[in-house]
Amino acid sequence: MKKSKMKKVAIIGGGIVGATAAYLLSKESKYAVTLYDSGEYQATKAAAGIISPWLSKRRNRQWYALAKDGAAYISELAEETQMEPDTYLKSGTIVTRKQPADVDELEQLALKRRESAPEMGEIKRVNAENIRHLLPLVTADLEDIFISGGARIDGDRFVSHLLKLGEKHGLKVINNQVKLVNEQTVLMDEKEKTFDYIFVCAGSGINELLDSLNYEVLVHPQKGQLIELAVPKYPTDISAPVLMPEGEKDFMPLGHGKLIIGATHENNPENKTDFTEAALHELLTSAMRIDNNLKEKDLVGTRVGMRAFTDDFAPFFGWLANSQHILVASGLGSSGLTTGPLIAKLMVSLLESPHLFSNYEKEISNYVHEKG
Ligand SMILES: Cc1cc2nc3c(=O)[nH]c(=O)nc-3n(C[C@H](O)[C@H](O)[C@H](O)COP(=O)(O)OP(=O)(O)OC[C@H]3O[C@@H](n4cnc5c(N)ncnc54)[C@H](O)[C@@H]3O)c2cc1C
Repeated sequence: MKKSKMKKVAIIGGGIVGATAAYLLSKESKYAVTLYDSGEYQATKAAAGIISPWLSKRRNRQWYALAKDGAAYISELAEETQMEPDTYLKSGTIVTRKQPADVDELEQLALKRRESAPEMGEIKRVNAENIRHLLPLVTADLEDIFISGGARIDGDRFVSHLLKLGEKHGLKVINNQVKLVNEQTVLMDEKEKTFDYIFVCAGSGINELLDSLNYEVLVHPQKGQLIELAVPKYPTDISAPVLMPEGEKDFMPLGHGKLIIGATHENNPENKTDFTEAALHELLTSAMRIDNNLKEKDLVGTRVGMRAFTDDFAPFFGWLANSQHILVASGLGSSGLTTGPLIAKLMVSLLESPHLFSNYEKEISNYVHEKG
């Protein structure tokens, strides 16, 4: 298509929502896409990467539909774009409960949920011995449900992979902070650029961006920290399942002798960027209750990211009220790697069908409104 006829789209934010939207739009020859990303406080790069929403205790119907279909969509996207196992892997997940009666209940829930989510795959009860077979370092005695369709993704690799594919189709990626001047104009380094559409996928940075257009956004920042441990005795096999132990931090063996423990949930933190001693203590002591051989000297890395959450913990996405040019998404909270790619796909479909309203969402006016 002639460049002059192409619709110009800006995407602000290169986390999982922005990067997926950039990939999807770039594949369509009618869009010329520019993605701006400052990289600050990015949740996607810091995230643990667990994709296993089916046994969540959350009662929000829209959220569950979005997370369930989001998990299925990631699997499709991984296949379509030929992601490596280090980027996306169906490793299986193990979810534990302390009381045997709770394991029974969990198993019933899993079997019921699988009726509408066949991608959950095999569901089976596993005892402490079976778990040690799958995860040899676990020393705690746990009672669990294993779900073979559970997956994990590496957020950083996932985003880089999609952006690289987008670049092959003409996507322009600019690593810089921008501001909004009006509904169609982006300001970077004191230069303005006009677009037909702007996608605001800025995670916890959305308030600042929309403030200049006189909108109030009801999202709050939540700091998440996690640790990476080197556990050389751990098998190099990357296909070990993720362990989600009740009341403890998640335990994610990545293979290659690497183990991730995460994450903290710290609302409205004063310090947004630094890894803290308190987080180290919280994460390590929890991990040691699962594997009592772990030591502080095993620590090889830390990650810090900022989640955006809403008062009802639901994400929102869609047209900014009274605008035909700006689409927004935020509030993905602690399950945004699971819901983010599907949210991006739904945002992209709004360009073709502006009035589409899915069964995944509540009215956006619950979360964003013009200041009085
Ligand atoms: C420690 C941790 C563990 C997590 N674990 C999981 C998990 O296991 N499973 C799961 O499903 N989810 C998990 N999450 C949640 C998930 O990571 C987030 O919900 C999701 O990544 C949010 O994606 P996003 O694209 O909306 O925002 P982000 O990933 O935060 O990306 C927004 C981007 O916008 C950029 N930006 C903001 N303002 C501007 C501006 N003015 N100009 C240019 N760029 C700008 C930011 O720098 C950032 O790069 C975790 C989060 C954390 C922090």
